[in-house]
Amino acid sequence: MKVRRLPKDPGPAAWNAILPAQTHYPELSGPQSSDWLVIGAGFAGLAATRRLKQLRPGDRITLLEARRIADGPAGRNTGFMIDLPHDLASEDYGGDLEQDRKQTRLNRAGIDFARQTAEEYGLSSEAFVQSGKINAAASEKGLKHNSDYAAHLVTLGEAHELLDASAMNELTGSNYYRGGLFTPGAVMIQPALFVRGLAGGLGSNLVSLHEQTPVTGLERKDGAWIATTPKGSVSAPKVILAVNGHAESFGYFKRRLMHVFTYASMTRAMNGEEVKALGGQPVWGCTPADPMGTTVRRISGTGGDRIVIRNRFTYDPSMEVSDRRIAAVGRDHDRAFASRFPMLAGVGMEYRWGGRLCLSRNNVPAFGEVDSGLYAACCQNGLGTAKGTLAGMLAAELATDTPSELLQDLLAEAPPQSLPPEPVAWLGANAVIRWGELKAGTEL
Ligand SMILES: Cc1cc2nc3c(=O)[nH]c(=O)nc-3n(C[C@H](O)[C@H](O)[C@H](O)COP(=O)(O)OP(=O)(O)OC[C@H]3O[C@@H](n4cnc5c(N)ncnc54)[C@H](O)[C@@H]3O)c2cc1C
Repeated sequence: MKVRRLPKDPGPAAWNAILPAQTHYPELSGPQSSDWLVIGAGFAGLAATRRLKQLRPGDRITLLEARRIADGPAGRNTGFMIDLPHDLASEDYGGDLEQDRKQTRLNRAGIDFARQTAEEYGLSSEAFVQSGKINAAASEKGLKHNSDYAAHLVTLGEAHELLDASAMNELTGSNYYRGGLFTPGAVMIQPALFVRGLAGGLGSNLVSLHEQTPVTGLERKDGAWIATTPKGSVSAPKVILAVNGHAESFGYFKRRLMHVFTYASMTRAMNGEEVKALGGQPVWGCTPADPMGTTVRRISGTGGDRIVIRNRFTYDPSMEVSDRRIAAVGRDHDRAFASRFPMLAGVGMEYRWGGRLCLSRNNVPAFGEVDSGLYAACCQNGLGTAKGTLAGMLAAELATDTPSELLQDLLAEAPPQSLPPEPVAWLGANAVIRWGELKAGTEL
């Protein structure tokens, strides 16, 4: 089968661009064979590879990535590894109590696996740190979302703390926020540093990692899978497909996956005077109290002192967006930045980019054995840092017949629901998103 579409990531991967030059992994060339093939080196593919390495220490594993490591969505997100329920389609992230308990258990298992990996590979606290995170509220409605969500957390028995406007000002330097809801379990990653660290830690003479190696065809012949790439091929009895929404490009979960883009901008490095004018703490991260609002991160480390702004969602079943779109959304980023940080009027954006999310209508993953010896660890519903890590780890357990309660939990999820035909889905999804963004008001 020919792979229908290859990944196209709009704009630069800023987190990777601000780091020093990266290790080069060679493009695959010539025919190869392996005990395992993992396709996609995002959170899911890297976790699957590490788990396979643990479970089958003597086996050869090949990992193929279409782009450079950390240039794909895993290296271009905002880096919140969130343990608690985070349903982007809800008013305040919360949902059904039992389902939320299960989600939290699963997210935490993903985060624990990432934490063990970070420890084993000696990653710095800039790459991975459990600092908690804040849902920031700028309006009466935002405060209400936070108090509703806090009440939900009480029922779930989850620790949290409500912050007032002055605490938010001390943290962020901005007067924009009227309150916040702190939860301690979230981990913040520097996405590219984390992903590079994972890829580097996997290195062994039994793991072959090839970047800039898109799989263009995948077929089963005489009991083995053969993946074709522009300059080579890999034959392996078992394959883990860790390509998130691109599962559909491989012919699986057709018309069941929603391809959504979200967008971010990163300022240039601020100078000492600008940092002083900003005030607040050097490192923090705020997700919006309203899921359709603006995420803000303040970073300080490799690449200097900067601010990252993320907002807007668009549903794009083509899995591509234009440069014009990036520029247009960039204006929303500039507005969000200017209203929060009027003291930084001279600080412009150095990078602007977009990236893919994969959502399902019923908020479930595209997970399991989808063909003989072919396992999917896809569709992370916008929270791939934690959910992708978990799906990759559990796909390796499924493929090696390693039973666990977590695996049973994930296998018990319903399959992703079918989408309405196009253009109905396009019109409906974009109308719902746009309406949600308009309702978000000053949270955006
Ligand atoms: C701006 C932005 C902000 C975000 N913020 C957050 C956040 O704060 N927290 C969070 O949890 N999530 C966030 N996300 C979402 C998160 O990035 C994704 O959910 C996550 O990357 C999915 O992980 P994954 O490993 O499943 O897939 P991916 O990271 O997409 O990895 C799949 C890999 O497969 C590769 N691939 C695809 N097709 C092929 C092929 N044919 N051959 C070889 N390789 C292929 C791709 O290049 C890609 O690198 C954000 C996303 C964006 C764009």
